[in-house]
Amino acid sequence: MGALRVQSKSIKKREVLRTCIPTDVVLWTSRWSHAASLTVNDNFVENLTISPEPRKPASTSFSGQKHHAQHDESAAPTSLNLADEDKSEKIADLIEQDEPANGSSENNHLAAHQAPASSSERDTAPFRCGYVAILGQPNVGKSTLLNALLHFKLSIVSPKPQTTRKRILGILNRPASQMIFFDTPGILEAHYRLQQALVRAAFQAMREADVQIMMIEPSASPSPADLAILNRLADTGKPIVLVINKIDTVAKDHLLPVIAAFQNKPNVKEIVPVSALHQDGIEALAEVLEKYMPLQEPFYDSELMTDHPERFLAAEIVREKIFLRYGEEIPYSTSVQIEEFVERPGHKDYIRAIIFVERESQKGILIGKGGQALKQVGKLAREELEQLLGRPVYLELFVAVKERWRERESELRSLGYL
Ligand code: GDP
Ligand code: MG
Repeated sequence: MGALRVQSKSIKKREVLRTCIPTDVVLWTSRWSHAASLTVNDNFVENLTISPEPRKPASTSFSGQKHHAQHDESAAPTSLNLADEDKSEKIADLIEQDEPANGSSENNHLAAHQAPASSSERDTAPFRCGYVAILGQPNVGKSTLLNALLHFKLSIVSPKPQTTRKRILGILNRPASQMIFFDTPGILEAHYRLQQALVRAAFQAMREADVQIMMIEPSASPSPADLAILNRLADTGKPIVLVINKIDTVAKDHLLPVIAAFQNKPNVKEIVPVSALHQDGIEALAEVLEKYMPLQEPFYDSELMTDHPERFLAAEIVREKIFLRYGEEIPYSTSVQIEEFVERPGHKDYIRAIIFVERESQKGILIGKGGQALKQVGKLAREELEQLLGRPVYLELFVAVKERWRERESELRSLGYL
């Protein structure tokens, strides 16, 4: 089953289709558009109707392990490349085309689920390796996308914006490529020093990237914030892959105006609609990105999925549980530091974390009545840590006040944000 069906195959309408989508933009679709139709009239693409396949209800939380139920490996991507002379024929061909299924293992280990190149594959295909920065406004789903690409929950996710505070490095090993992704804090107007540091981290990733993912939500017209980010990305001169995320949340005929609004933007080379949460369009995206990787040998061992130490991941997991457990103020005033992380063969690992808040009153809220709130955070964090590490863990949480740490350079430095 292909992705888009061009309802009219008349030469005239194909011609219209050809002219209404610029030749330097490639639109990628995937099999989430199970029953899709692209209707053209003599002036413009009139309508894009896409009916998603019925799917199982999605869980909104990750287990700390490889994604399971939501990942439909058979949901094969199909490309619609409108850049070639022969594009209408290509569309027709692609409609019938199926992507080969991409098997995956159930290995729980940090790195083991991916498919590094075997030596025979490496002999035949030139190897590509490079950096991909995932950029966009807060909460568009950047961290969810990184996890979807890796098939592993590496980056923490919450419904609140600005969950990600540091650049997260995730390595996707494929038979003919190694793509090193930077998940970044969302780009926003910075009001305090911590936010300035977050935005700086995002732009740093942008500068290091070979290709930039600009992630947006499928809203009808581009927001000024999206356009500002896009301009900034375009200034680097590097290719931009526009990823429209959360396509599961909109009627599919809303996608075309979104595509139309972005397709002519400078350096936007590809447009890929996805649902990171539902793993739709992710394989298509990986294939698109791979093309932009320079021809070179891998930088990292192919067994590796990240270069962050377990200590860092442990702090992130605790922070995520805080984001999920408390209301508006607490998560943003909180920073987590791992004071001790000891592997004790034959015993549980011992992890001691300090949660810093900005004021004494926040300490009380964090701990909760009879310590219940913090206990819950600790339990959820420990369970996820145990899954991540594959070992039993004894996790101790302490709360301390670091006044106005978000605004003080010395504190930001000591907490690793600068
Ligand atoms: P980030 O701030 O850009 O890193 O965004 P997150 O990855 O933390 O996601 C923010 C929220 O959007 C979370 O509640 C995610 O579950 C949700 N989300 C991410 N991708 C999708 C998607 O494809 N569809 C839907 N419906 N929600 C999504
Ligand atoms: Mg994030």
